[in-house]
Amino acid sequence: KNAAYKNAKPSKHLKIFINPFSGTCKASKVFDSEVKPIFDAAGCTYDITITEKINHAREIMQTIDLKPFDVIVGISGDGIIHEIINGLLERENINDATIPIGVIPAGSGNALNICLQGEAVYKSLQHSALTIIKGVPMKIDMCSITQGDKRYFSFMSQTFGVIADCDLGTENLRWMGSMRFIFGALKAIFEGRRYSCELAMKIAESNKEIIRDTYRKEYNSNSQSVPMSRDNRYGTVNDPIPDDWTIITDDVSTILGGKVPWIGKGTIPFPCALPNDGLIDLLVARRDKLSSRIKSINFMTEMELGNHIKMKEIDYYKVEAFRLTPKNSTDGYISIDGEKVDFAPFQVEALPQLINILSI
Ligand code: ADP
Ligand code: MG
Repeated sequence: KNAAYKNAKPSKHLKIFINPFSGTCKASKVFDSEVKPIFDAAGCTYDITITEKINHAREIMQTIDLKPFDVIVGISGDGIIHEIINGLLERENINDATIPIGVIPAGSGNALNICLQGEAVYKSLQHSALTIIKGVPMKIDMCSITQGDKRYFSFMSQTFGVIADCDLGTENLRWMGSMRFIFGALKAIFEGRRYSCELAMKIAESNKEIIRDTYRKEYNSNSQSVPMSRDNRYGTVNDPIPDDWTIITDDVSTILGGKVPWIGKGTIPFPCALPNDGLIDLLVARRDKLSSRIKSINFMTEMELGNHIKMKEIDYYKVEAFRLTPKNSTDGYISIDGEKVDFAPFQVEALPQLINILSI
């Protein structure tokens, strides 16, 4: 940890995105009353964009002159962070993407902030503001995703099945705040939904015991740095599946890929995720193993602390890449970082150490 502080560069000049639509739509108010005074006291300057539409932050980040800024800040949920990251990685010069990103939690989904600050100070705007001012960067891996002819970068999660339904099938329940995800999960469980797909994986480790022992170590901030590259090593979703990938075709309750432990408050699907091990954690709940409602509810409750990986019904892998192809259905939900994408085959691979996040 101490080694990381050597890289600290106090943030003075901030480019800020506020999403007025985030969470319960109070991001601007929250900024004025709780965050701005801290930035002012630290003598920061800032340039604020109130986002006006989906992809507004992403478009600005593709071309904005970064020279005047030390950090890019999202006052939002995970959606704007996703946009900032995608915009940065779509710039002509990949080296521009080294500018650190800071997170002020103002959405209904603030998973990245929970991962950075811990659940104890969840939604503490002051802690988050101080973290940004302190300016300690941490390199994190990205997931590179291809779907049709589109490409996305994902810092958090890719979901298919029950969990995607909870996130996206409940947009109309925004007034419920984060309760809407729980409500969505219960609804899906009681309807006993099943999902058909083909899952192909380039497995790095499939033994859960080994994964828990080897990977659940303290994050090592001294891990060797690698050259920045946004090139896919495994091609795209439109290429043939490589011969050495493992293929599963069973019906599932849910499939989740992720790079961070939390994907929401009280939801830790990836207890063994590390910010820069170059791998994606992949959770597979097969429908035949998780057949009863009791088991499904058990899975959801155990996930609150990440203990579901001890359940024999749940498979957990470390993979370099995977491809998910929905079968027998033309409508359903797939989410990337909590945002809805097309219900169509997609392929994911881990790209090491592409983005800098300000952490405590
Ligand atoms: P939440 O955690 O509440 O979902 P996010 O920050 O994730 O909040 O944002 C949700 C969505 O709002 C994102 O898809 C983003 O692109 C979109 N968005 C940004 N600005 C606006 C706006 N002015 N009106 C509507 N949606 C917007
Ligand atoms: Mg969101």
